Amino acid sequence: MAYIQFSEQIPEKQGYDVIVAGAGVAGIAAAVAARRAGKSVLLLEKATQLGGLATIGLINYFVPMCNGRGVQIIKGLCDEFIDLSIRDGFDTLPEVWKERKDHPTKEKSVRFATQYSPTIFSLALTDLIVSEGITLLVDCVAANPVMDGTHCKGVIIQGKAGREYYPCGVVVDATGDSDLLERAGVPTVLGKNYFSYFGSCATLESCERVTKSRNIHDLYSGISGGNINLYGDRQPADVPLYKGVTPEEVSDYTIRNQRLMLKNLREKYPDRFSREIISLPIMPQFRTTRRIDGDYTLSADDAFKHFDDSVCAVNDFDRSDYLYEVPYRTLVHHSFDNLITAGRSAAGEGYAWDILRVIPPAILTGQAAGEAAALALEEKTAIASVTIPELQRRLANNKMMIHFDDALIPPPEIMAEAEPVNNHF
Ligand SMILES: Cc1cc2nc3c(=O)[nH]c(=O)nc-3n(C[C@H](O)[C@H](O)[C@H](O)COP(=O)(O)OP(=O)(O)OC[C@H]3O[C@@H](n4cnc5c(N)ncnc54)[C@H](O)[C@@H]3O)c2cc1C
Repeated sequence: MAYIQFSEQIPEKQGYDVIVAGAGVAGIAAAVAARRAGKSVLLLEKATQLGGLATIGLINYFVPMCNGRGVQIIKGLCDEFIDLSIRDGFDTLPEVWKERKDHPTKEKSVRFATQYSPTIFSLALTDLIVSEGITLLVDCVAANPVMDGTHCKGVIIQGKAGREYYPCGVVVDATGDSDLLERAGVPTVLGKNYFSYFGSCATLESCERVTKSRNIHDLYSGISGGNINLYGDRQPADVPLYKGVTPEEVSDYTIRNQRLMLKNLREKYPDRFSREIISLPIMPQFRTTRRIDGDYTLSADDAFKHFDDSVCAVNDFDRSDYLYEVPYRTLVHHSFDNLITAGRSAAGEGYAWDILRVIPPAILTGQAAGEAAALALEEKTAIASVTIPELQRRLANNKMMIHFDDALIPPPEIMAEAEPVNNHF
């Protein structure tokens, strides 16, 4: 490949304790946690609406946050985000979970999960960020980390005023794609993505449904381009598995999906006066693009294992009973003293990457990353070396379940019946 050299003078702006790149649910949780720990925080988002895949990506479903037998596992800031997501819009919370009370049972029970309005949740997230005193810059790409060896001095952004430099103490890369950490030299691993493009549509039938039910949630009818689930069922043979980290791939994926959605619309709803597409995803619906090769990589074999450096307990969203702890080491690489990740780019492999990336765990790893960033600054230590018991104490004080209770591990005869239900996540 040919290269050009390009130099420019970049204005230096005000410094922050913590810069969080990317305002998906993980980045927002990280920013809130660091701010509540008393740090000045700059949150950078390349879109103009907050929430990432969970809002502008139209993925508006908190996957199950319980063990499938009446015990809530995923807590922490996720509880607060659920409230925010449904306070001003619809929900689909099962009746038994409306009060958020555990109701342990030996039988499998309905799971604690909900849909929400992606647009209203996005507005509520902006309100949260401003109320917390976090500085938010939208329409700003976190373009480059400025490195001094393996220490990051700050971040160059690309926004309306061109390129500008913000110094900082710690960077949380919550871009979902490890954009900054990869450019900083942190080792990363690429994923592959099946063909998915879900939009929301209203039809005359769905309008009639709403009029009868008086529940606006019934307005939504499905419309898709590619509609392949996370297991890759029915992935078309002629469509590549996209990594999603080059402009060409992102564009090809988007163009193919948008053209297919138009074709599907014409075929499914030929009467053009009978339906409308209400919204399209405004970020590509890639599940796993690029993650860090962290100090520990979570795998599916880690189910039911305890870790001394666990920062949160999470449950399997598809299979009842399966529980995991997330080691702090999945968020860091020991060679880089002030860089940390959260959300989709935490280190998990195979199905464990899916376990880590979905909305509820992404919020929890965001919370852990923000709390750890604050602690590293207070302890004046490398981020990988923060005092784990102190980090865990602070997270537990903020409602995180750090370790699951062994009493929740089911006996072998019950595990034999715990099969994936193959939902469409
Ligand atoms: C098709 C599909 C179906 C899914 N179904 C479900 C489901 O039903 N339930 C569920 O819980 N999860 C589901 N998920 C997973 C879930 O939506 C995401 O994994 C989760 O929302 C990831 O959150 P995040 O904050 O880590 O990353 P993202 O949501 O990707 O957020 C990253 C943010 O960073 C911004 N950004 C990126 N690069 C930069 C940059 N350089 N500078 C500034 N900003 C930047 C982006 O605009 C975005 O706002 C699904 C995912 C897909 C793709």
